Amino acid sequence: MREIEDFTDDRLKAWCIHCGAAIANVRSNRDHVPTKSFLTKALRGRGADYDRGAGDDLDYLPQVFICQGCNSGFSPDENYFLCVLHAVMAGSLYPDQAKHPEAATVLRSNRHVVRSLKQMPDGQLSLFDDLQPFTLFPDFEKIRRVVIKNARGHAYHELGEPLLEAPDHVAFVQLERLSPEQREAFESVGTDADLAAWPEVGSRMTVHLLNGEAMTGGWITVEPGRYRYAIDWSGPVLVKTVIWEYIATETRWGTIDPA
Ligand SMILES: [Zn+2]
Repeated sequence: MREIEDFTDDRLKAWCIHCGAAIANVRSNRDHVPTKSFLTKALRGRGADYDRGAGDDLDYLPQVFICQGCNSGFSPDENYFLCVLHAVMAGSLYPDQAKHPEAATVLRSNRHVVRSLKQMPDGQLSLFDDLQPFTLFPDFEKIRRVVIKNARGHAYHELGEPLLEAPDHVAFVQLERLSPEQREAFESVGTDADLAAWPEVGSRMTVHLLNGEAMTGGWITVEPGRYRYAIDWSGPVLVKTVIWEYIATETRWGTIDPA
């Protein structure tokens, strides 16, 4: 993505968006939104080059400042989510190194996650390794925390808006599970931004809108096939993401008025 400077009110940047800690009083670092490991190694490498001042203009990867405690607190859950994605895509907790090199490497170096994924929700071991159909019973709470982390980060990055409250609605589902009508509603882009629906002056989203690169609720692709997100702020702030074209997520702050 092209890096866009954020000119929203600096007073909004005084707190960690996840825990509300005053940034001035705590150690803070840059946190990638989306979770960096969801992107390909090639793109992560180009993003790191860009951060060093060496890369191409379009290689910026979105980042926000958060406190170090939150940053390292998310890592185990993000790692867990990554293992789930790899296992599902490869169809095994022990993927073939030749067929699925990335999945094999990630899962081999995360044996503790693999062990926990072999547990059924009732705590019994299931012996389904490499049997069809391959089914996982991941810990939804861990996945939910990663979904919220990224949604909050996207809203902050694009709109300059810290959403310190807990979201009012969080959902995630396999994209293929959506009915055609649900899929259409999920994919649909809001209206062309009218003035009433413009985000805060100076936010990155205003630049996207001015350049015609996005619309209210329109999709911003971080990496094709890996990650895209959309934000609709015309009513309650609604953040939608699609991870690996496999999982669709929706996180909303605020309630929808009954029509
Ligand atoms: Zn924090």
